[in-house]
Amino acid sequence: MFEGVFDLPVPEKTVHAIASPSEIEDTGEITHEMMGDLSKVMKSFKLPAEASCGLSKGKLLRASGVHGLCMRQAVYEALDSKREPCESRFPMTSLFAMDAGTALHETIQDRILGPMRVLHGYWTTRDGKEKRLGFWHEMWPRYEEYSFRDGELCLAGHTDGVICLERIRRLKAGKNFDGLPMNMYTDPCHLEIKSTNDRNFKHTKSGNLPDYYRWQANVYQMFLEVDKTMFLYMNRDNGSLCSFIYQGSDKLKDAIKEKAATFKKYRDAEAIPHEKYRKCPSINSKDAKCCPFRRRCFGA
Ligand code: SF4
Repeated sequence: MFEGVFDLPVPEKTVHAIASPSEIEDTGEITHEMMGDLSKVMKSFKLPAEASCGLSKGKLLRASGVHGLCMRQAVYEALDSKREPCESRFPMTSLFAMDAGTALHETIQDRILGPMRVLHGYWTTRDGKEKRLGFWHEMWPRYEEYSFRDGELCLAGHTDGVICLERIRRLKAGKNFDGLPMNMYTDPCHLEIKSTNDRNFKHTKSGNLPDYYRWQANVYQMFLEVDKTMFLYMNRDNGSLCSFIYQGSDKLKDAIKEKAATFKKYRDAEAIPHEKYRKCPSINSKDAKCCPFRRRCFGA
């Protein structure tokens, strides 16, 4: 199952793009603990933990939310039912970790996989005014993630990219891409970038890929018409990376299509799914506490 990418030599140009020692200014004096422990401050900010209903703007199921979806909640949301404030709160530190993960995506796409010339898609100029399809180039250094939506399948989302395994094999064999067409698109594979803490990183590295990531990967594979996903994990605690290939499953793809079709049927009929579709065993369960439709759902 595992096939590493990051045992490859990263081009020197890439390293320079990340940091040049001559650009780091030494100000001489260091004064510690001016701000105290900011993580304590962040923990004290609590935000409403309203559950995501897993819908895109067009009332389609989002790829990242299909696995954990509550069918009733999604239909309430699609029918614009009145929402109630949520009881649960989550700390600002969680938001901080999510924002850090988003920023890491760009670093991996634009500064590592891009200059390695293995990431395929639309690359734009720095100002985003021009773009072209293919692989990274100094003139087009920013990656644009693929977006998709399919009203018939009732699914939408955006992927982290498409990586060409044939190009990776060439790099591993010590070859370069001289003489290859710029748009050579051989053995494409869906790319999924994840950042996580040390504990989850070790767990995943040992072969435990969570079910919700398997579902998400299969949705993207359907849209990209590929059968593999390369998961690229970054350990937020120490910056280490690991990668592996997940082979998609036709059985999961069928289950996804079935779930989306069920949602579409209820949404179009403007009918709330039967009680058997309730995700929560009671109004006091963890998921219900952050659901904006819990009272309506349980008739309270
Ligand atoms: S309370 Fe639970 S079961 Fe009911 S709609 Fe919300 S998430 Fe679904």
